[in-house]
Amino acid sequence: MLTTRSVTGLRADGNTRIITLDDGSEIGCKIVLIATGKWFRTLDLPGVDKWNGAGVYYGAAHTEAMYYKDKDVVVLGAANSAAQGMLFLARYARSVTVLIRSEPDWSTYLDSAIRTHERIRLLERCVLREIHGDDVIAEVTIEHTQTGQLERLPAAALFVFIGQRAQTDFAADLLRRTDDGSIMTGLTLLENGKRPAGWQLERDPLPLETCVPGIFAAGDVRNGTRHGVAAAVGDGDAAVSMFWQYLSTI
Ligand SMILES: Cc1cc2nc3c(=O)[nH]c(=O)nc-3n(C[C@H](O)[C@H](O)[C@H](O)COP(=O)(O)OP(=O)(O)OC[C@H]3O[C@@H](n4cnc5c(N)ncnc54)[C@H](O)[C@@H]3O)c2cc1C
Repeated sequence: MLTTRSVTGLRADGNTRIITLDDGSEIGCKIVLIATGKWFRTLDLPGVDKWNGAGVYYGAAHTEAMYYKDKDVVVLGAANSAAQGMLFLARYARSVTVLIRSEPDWSTYLDSAIRTHERIRLLERCVLREIHGDDVIAEVTIEHTQTGQLERLPAAALFVFIGQRAQTDFAADLLRRTDDGSIMTGLTLLENGKRPAGWQLERDPLPLETCVPGIFAAGDVRNGTRHGVAAAVGDGDAAVSMFWQYLSTI
């Protein structure tokens, strides 16, 4: 079955697993494989969504960089993805100002390239307070957290790299998850050798199986996975044999 709907809920009823879709309809089945991936953490500023793609970009740099040739851009973030993004943007932009909440957390080889780049300016202990603009963004207000001083900077674009979160809120009440929403599977679910609460099968959870038998997780959404296409495809392939094992136990 191919459906272009979002999943909004997941529950278990006996051996039936039931997913709810965003139009309110439900699908019952024996097995669910969750492969909903991760998505970028978004800014928590009022009204910011109207500038998505109109100056505010999440996790992107390569496709937009040319568009901001000879413009002033701002990068938010301090990990390797932000570092790689700012170095790429600095090939085209007139200036790249980087807002870092505390201190950089990127690799050493990126650090020297960034600190010696004439068009990259690092502002440590700074947070974003406001975005200004009309149809597209034009400026941002930042706060220097040590002094409380506010500063307004030109910004033709804002590139945001503040981490990712697993897209699993639809399963929040049912599955064990980590702080970033990743789904726990397999033996990581055992606590002091004990199986998850409510687990009734006479075996441990299979490597890709969640705390609910018959519900599996694969790819970026799974806690402990090595993020990447190959790992996600490998999980998907491995999951099939686990489906058969599961079916033989119910
Ligand atoms: C910019 C960027 C560059 C990357 N470059 C590389 C690279 O060079 N090499 C590499 O190996 N990996 C790379 N990755 C990582 C790679 O894309 C992921 O590891 C891989 O796509 C994970 O596959 P997945 O199937 O777990 O999740 P995804 O590919 O993220 O697929 C998840 C799907 O689930 C859908 N979905 C989410 N929530 C719901 C819901 N509630 N209902 C229905 N559908 C839902 C999403 O719309 C999406 O289609 C990159 C990622 C990014 C963002």
